[in-house]
Amino acid sequence: MSDYRMDTKCVQSGYRPGNGEPRQVPIVQSTTFRYETSEDMGKLFDLEAAGYFYTRLQNPTNDYVAAKIADMEGGTAAMLTSSGQAANFFAIFNICECGGHVLASSSIYGGTFNLLSVTMAKMGIETTFISPDCTEEELNAAFKDNTRVVFGETIANPALTVLDIEKFAKAAHAHGVPLIVDNTFPTPVNCRPIEWGADIVTHSTTKYMDGHGSAVGGAIVDSGKFDWMAHADKYPGLCQPDESYHGIIYAEKFGLEGAFITKCTSQLMRDFGSIQSPQNAFLLNLGLESLHVRMPKHVENGQAVAEYLSNNPKVKKVSYSGLKTDPYYEIACKYLPRGGCGVVSFEIKGGRAAAEKFMKNLKLLAIETHVADARSCCLNPATSTHRQLTEDQLEAAGVPAGLIRISCGLEDKEDLIADLEQAFAAI
Ligand SMILES: *Cc1c(COP(=O)(O)O)cnc(C)c1O
Repeated sequence: MSDYRMDTKCVQSGYRPGNGEPRQVPIVQSTTFRYETSEDMGKLFDLEAAGYFYTRLQNPTNDYVAAKIADMEGGTAAMLTSSGQAANFFAIFNICECGGHVLASSSIYGGTFNLLSVTMAKMGIETTFISPDCTEEELNAAFKDNTRVVFGETIANPALTVLDIEKFAKAAHAHGVPLIVDNTFPTPVNCRPIEWGADIVTHSTTKYMDGHGSAVGGAIVDSGKFDWMAHADKYPGLCQPDESYHGIIYAEKFGLEGAFITKCTSQLMRDFGSIQSPQNAFLLNLGLESLHVRMPKHVENGQAVAEYLSNNPKVKKVSYSGLKTDPYYEIACKYLPRGGCGVVSFEIKGGRAAAEKFMKNLKLLAIETHVADARSCCLNPATSTHRQLTEDQLEAAGVPAGLIRISCGLEDKEDLIADLEQAFAAI
């Protein structure tokens, strides 16, 4: 980790050109790499030397950008994946195999909820979902002998709950397991979960990090702090010989700083092959170069829109942790002192019909299954992502039919509010 401040890390970390080399991160658009001797290449296959041989596992462009993200999060190692879904799957599966148990916050992103509750369940991995607002006693009581990891989101998408990272980290460590935090919404500009005790941080880089709706991607960062060997019985994959690499023991050979990401790259990326394309890593890096400038503007617009909505008589309820009336205001002051993100959700009076009419009349805000873009967008879960549910099921899931999620982009906040105002006038 460098000693530079966040703004400098966003612009300069990860890639440092040598004399006469390109100033911008080069896109190494090559599937493979040349070697003088088979012996040279053999050392890479034995994990005896660091280097590149095939882009399904590693590529220099990706590694420059991953190193920047590691520096921003305050971690020791990082890797890029093809999507946020792949990042969360890899991060969990790297340390939790068949027969293992995951303890996850119940308000996490629907894609991750489904990954754990349906797909990973088929792989013999069981998950218990617990409210992020649970007491310490409830949290501690949810652990099992086979619990291998705790998982939560700093700001949940789209529930907008804020995770008490210290509470979750403390419970995880008391049970000898690491905490993974998906830090997609605040990004390291607004929160660095490792500073609060998280061991692994994941990202859907598709969101604010890219920030321009151009490339789907993910990232995994290791804090290098979790002592795998101290809990060797729980993590045989890291602490026992890997037969597919001549019996090396990752936790021994690569130490605290490198074991997790080396295993994840050399085993999971090798076998599942969900690498980010170097072209997308280049685009992601362009986004990172301005992340520290963009996040405060997303927050400014989110706060202004949330305040406008909370004073609107046609609105039943607003969720945004920057509002003093929000149940997560206090906890956000602790973990998100510079604000959270630009995503606001609210319930319109009049349910599904009012929501549909309101959204049809928006001119600047586009209807999209996306958030965290430079361009503002919105979504009504009841008529899109959750349309298979009945009104009763929607209520039970905490997504009433009139719920609208707005992602505030980088436009002028007065124009965004004027657009909302004219759409409200039409209903
Ligand atoms: C979007 C999202 C994901 C999934 O990421 P993709 O890049 O779409 O695969 C995971 N976690 C959170 C919090 C997200 O918002």
